[in-house]
Amino acid sequence: AYSDIGLVGLAVMGENLALNIERQGFSVAVFNRTGEKTTRFLAGRARGKALAAAYSLPELTGLLRRPRKIMLMVKAGRPVDEIIGQLLPHLEAGDILLDCGNSHFEDTRRRNARLAQAGVLFLGVGVSGGEEGALNGPSIMIGGNEEAYRELAGLFNRIAARAAGTPCAFYFGPDGAGHYVKMIHNGIEYADMQLIAESYHLLKAAVGLEAEEMAEVFRTWNEGELESFLIEITAEILARPDEESGRPLVEMIRDQAEQKGTGKWTCQSALELGVPAPTITEAVYARGLSALKAERVEAARAFPGPNPRYAGDKEKFLAALRDALYAAKICSYAQGFALLRAAGQAYGWELDLSRAALVWRSGCIIRAGFLDRIAEAYGKSPGLVNLMLDPFFRERLNRAQAGWRRVVASAKELGIATPALSSSLDYFDGYRTADLPANLIQAQRDYFGAHMFERTDRPGKFHVVWQDEVQGAGNN
Ligand code: NDP
Repeated sequence: AYSDIGLVGLAVMGENLALNIERQGFSVAVFNRTGEKTTRFLAGRARGKALAAAYSLPELTGLLRRPRKIMLMVKAGRPVDEIIGQLLPHLEAGDILLDCGNSHFEDTRRRNARLAQAGVLFLGVGVSGGEEGALNGPSIMIGGNEEAYRELAGLFNRIAARAAGTPCAFYFGPDGAGHYVKMIHNGIEYADMQLIAESYHLLKAAVGLEAEEMAEVFRTWNEGELESFLIEITAEILARPDEESGRPLVEMIRDQAEQKGTGKWTCQSALELGVPAPTITEAVYARGLSALKAERVEAARAFPGPNPRYAGDKEKFLAALRDALYAAKICSYAQGFALLRAAGQAYGWELDLSRAALVWRSGCIIRAGFLDRIAEAYGKSPGLVNLMLDPFFRERLNRAQAGWRRVVASAKELGIATPALSSSLDYFDGYRTADLPANLIQAQRDYFGAHMFERTDRPGKFHVVWQDEVQGAGNN
């Protein structure tokens, strides 16, 4: 008997996804470049299940019911192109190829065009939730050929996580749309994590709490409007002792954050599209700065800085910090959604922003209570230009801003770096400023480069001779 679907790539994600799909009643044929892994998988976790092993790509395609459906779960980048190149001679028009790895959306657009020429239907699918999600229900962001999506919608809906009964699997549009939404998910994830890390830093260095006390703070926050997976696991992490030393395990972990690049892609796209995303960008920079451990240790000696201990009322500070975290989180989502909006227009995807909020409600790393509110906001007004302007979030930002300002001001006075909390506040303040000093920038540009400016009192472009005698006019 032929298998329903093929899967290439048996690392953690591929294995778990194969088991998830099989559990939902589909037979799966699997292939991995290194054959021993396939053998080990079949003899181990896959034993007795409707899984067949293939040891070459022609063997894999031969095992599949037509039109063939083949999922790639290999390392993003060149390996995807290599596998596609090796598979293509064994595929026929009408076969469906799905790239379920963290591919860059521009790669997906390129591969989509290439495969369309061969008549192969291509889907670029973002899968979130780590290995646990892949096994028990991920959040699935689909882009590419719509006919292929319809063919596979039943499978996606069955293997996906559910939120209030609705599968967290949505189709977002042609070619790279799904991978773009996944990239923004990861960008927001970077920002969320950094905001929580800065809050932890303030609780530790400014307020002077012990790890167990901090765990309790995050546990309490998780019962309110900050309720989210990342706050929940933060409480658990802070409460975990190190088995060897008995000290909090988190304090035994080196403070150098690593990254795989999807946060960076989000920032690159923000620059490309001219959409401000400072919270997300600062989160990526913060990981970069953390990596400079040796330099930081030396600089700590060179620049002693102020006493980091907060002298005021602790309870009030905690309440203000909760507001700061919530407000900054709204800013980072506002930036992510502004990017989705701009990319949808730039790439012709007609992205449904409320779906982006719905697809992240369960199964993924940024799942959070307030995504329902975001879905509502874009459901009510699909043309909303910025999430901060939605009545619900507007009211929350107005209410949170006093505490937010106090926390950021205190952090600056105490010498504690809070790049994501602070840049969110600057984003907010810049956004709510009707008259920015950009008039001066325009004047400077016109002064040195004759770049022209617009006037406030009448239409048109203007240039002024700023100097009496132009000597060797600059042209930068
Ligand atoms: P990896 O990204 O570590 O990729 C390993 C897999 O890719 C192995 O099966 C490996 O085969 C295969 N591979 C690598 N290079 C080649 C090549 N040139 N030709 C053929 N096969 C190759 O695995 P993960 O399971 O961590 O991730 C898979 C995808 O899912 C990635 O795109 C990742 O970014 C994405 N993802 C991962 C998440 C996670 O939590 N890990 C979460 C969400 C998405 P071999 O065994 O022969 O080396």
